[in-house]
Amino acid sequence: MLLVTGAAGYIGSHFVRYYLKQNLTAELVVVDNLSLGNLLSLDGSCNSRIHLYKTALGNSDAMAGIFAAHEIDAVVHFAANAYVGESQIQPFKYFENNVIETLKFLQVMLAAEVKQMVFSSTCATYGNPKYSPLNEDHPQRPINTYGSTKLMIEEALRALALSSQLKYASLRYFNAAGADATSEKDCAIGESHEPESHLIPLALAAAMGKSDTPLKIFGSDYPTRDGTCVRDYIHVNDLAEAHCLALKLIAGADFKGDMAESAENGIALNLGTANGATVKDVVAAVEKVTGKAVPCQQVDRRPGDPPALVADFSKAKAVLGWEPQFNLEQVVESAYQWELNRRF
Ligand code: UDP
Repeated sequence: MLLVTGAAGYIGSHFVRYYLKQNLTAELVVVDNLSLGNLLSLDGSCNSRIHLYKTALGNSDAMAGIFAAHEIDAVVHFAANAYVGESQIQPFKYFENNVIETLKFLQVMLAAEVKQMVFSSTCATYGNPKYSPLNEDHPQRPINTYGSTKLMIEEALRALALSSQLKYASLRYFNAAGADATSEKDCAIGESHEPESHLIPLALAAAMGKSDTPLKIFGSDYPTRDGTCVRDYIHVNDLAEAHCLALKLIAGADFKGDMAESAENGIALNLGTANGATVKDVVAAVEKVTGKAVPCQQVDRRPGDPPALVADFSKAKAVLGWEPQFNLEQVVESAYQWELNRRF
């Protein structure tokens, strides 16, 4: 059985739903402290197959009890704080929650002889791009604390895979977006952060008249096509599928990661679409999908934002046989459906 941390969060809940739909008899152990996630994101037709524990990852006694109570084969680790801007203002919150809690969790997990982990990493580990699109060999020099904390765990996993039998995949997400909102309106799930800081939900809120203020466009003087930041928006269900494939990859008896000659049992994979969209492209997509204008206000750059982050996902395509299915307009359309049917 799988154990999923941060399962009530935005990406975690999409993974849970996707996994349970793909694996019709499977059950899941999910752990979430519910500080940011929402329990409603785990309801719907499959919730009788979810064993939920509300606990902090760093609570070693509680985690040891959970590992003892279930036959866990692998962990998918989503739980983290993930606001770039906040990480610049409260770096120690990020060190504590993303690094220290995860290290405590890993210690308990390995002591319980659970040897497989798929880890939520991020393109923010790369920092300012030296070339684009970014492949996995690009230097990792994060320019914000969020990215640094994710890189620290990537390094911890690498070290542990060299000193133990751990097998892992670090999945470097580009900009997760969109929602699983179109198929089951009465149990739709989607993005719901408090406070919301992400571009697509804020642009939709501005277009739909749900916001008191215009959408702030952070920076107009970046060295990009139209002066605004370029990002690579990847649908959450495309991410969910990649996690399912990564689990199968690392479960394989002959899995060797990046450097088979050094016996390293881990791999890092970029998950994005290879299509860069500027902030203004996103605003245009939101206007097209909603048929409404997005009131905008140009403001200064947001600290910690690299000018452009676009994925070269050819390695994920080669080793997982994975390709994203959703383009930007479809991502925005699904996020719009969620905004129209929002439950939390
Ligand atoms: N952005 C913006 N206005 C906002 C929120 C975000 O201009 O209100 C920009 C931000 O500077 C970045 C892009 O949109 O270039 C995506 O930001 P988001 O916070 O959605 O994701 P991040 O790239 O930080 O993971």
